[in-house]
Amino acid sequence: MKDLRLEKITIRAVNVPLNKPVIAHLGTFEKWPFLCLDAHTNKGLIGKSYIGPYLVDQLPVIAKCIEALSKPFLNQEIKPYNFFEEGFKKISLLGYQGISIYALAALDIAFWDVYAKAANMPLACLLGSDLKPVKTYNSRGLWLIPLNEIEKETNDLLENGSFNAVKVRIGRNKLKDDIYVIEKIRKIGGENLVIMSDFNQCYDYDTALKRMNELDDIGLYWFEEPINYRNFNDCAKLSSRIKTPISIGENFHGPYDLVNSIKANASTYIMPDLMRIGGISGWLKSASIAEANNLKFSTHLFPEVSAHLMNLTPTAHWLEWVDWANPILQDTGFRVENGKYYIPDIPGTGVEWNDTNIEKYKVNI
Ligand SMILES: [Mg+2]
Repeated sequence: MKDLRLEKITIRAVNVPLNKPVIAHLGTFEKWPFLCLDAHTNKGLIGKSYIGPYLVDQLPVIAKCIEALSKPFLNQEIKPYNFFEEGFKKISLLGYQGISIYALAALDIAFWDVYAKAANMPLACLLGSDLKPVKTYNSRGLWLIPLNEIEKETNDLLENGSFNAVKVRIGRNKLKDDIYVIEKIRKIGGENLVIMSDFNQCYDYDTALKRMNELDDIGLYWFEEPINYRNFNDCAKLSSRIKTPISIGENFHGPYDLVNSIKANASTYIMPDLMRIGGISGWLKSASIAEANNLKFSTHLFPEVSAHLMNLTPTAHWLEWVDWANPILQDTGFRVENGKYYIPDIPGTGVEWNDTNIEKYKVNI
């Protein structure tokens, strides 16, 4: 690992078709955009990372931001922890939220990947843990689809990986439709099925309180993001008035947002996103903060790298499983069986490219 230096970075952009379109309050997405980063080193090893910044038209801007942030680190020794500290200071003029933290995360993940490759160890092992399978739920469907498709979709999600937990998106126009969907899933999956739910920030405070009260006894495992993600104080009021736990965190931009949500007592559970929390370094800081505050910590998207980190998260709760990046990834051994996510025992994060498909779904930036 001594004298492992960054020679250059290259970034490719893709827009990958989804098996099941995302139909959410925030919009409908038939494809999911990714930036794939390669960090080339003087030892011939390449660190790899991908981020999924939601908006395909913004990919060129974000790629430029990653390149700009990487410049001071070219020809320097790769030390991922130090990079995060220095990189975090460097983004202060741009602001600590949004694109700047996405860029920091993309580089941070690639640097940790190549650092682990240089040590010839899987990431979780390099960081002092092991590769235990991680408890996971199926999140790759049950969007706001027509009611007559719920049964087929539920069966598909439960069979594919033998899951005993799924997430459903709710906040439909009519209460009776939310109830129909939840009861249908329960009937198919049985009493022991864990059902997470996500409002995707669709309500103001009053409407959220009303709908959550109406659904509070239906047996959902959590209510996710009932209101705008920035409103920690109102989320705290909802948490104090509703029995079902509230989970937020996919919109924490860096560990300081987690600290602020804890100060507000915003939620029972948290579920940070690998990209928005600041990559692997941002995650590790957040995991310690969560431990100190006794907060159960779930993940958001990016299952390949998040699974490694769950082995280092003292309050690890649920891994969210989606397969959206699978077409651009080589099959290095990631798999889901009996509701658990298995991590490949190879050096690095296990993220390697399917170059044919990256070319196929390429977007010019
Ligand atoms: Mg969500």
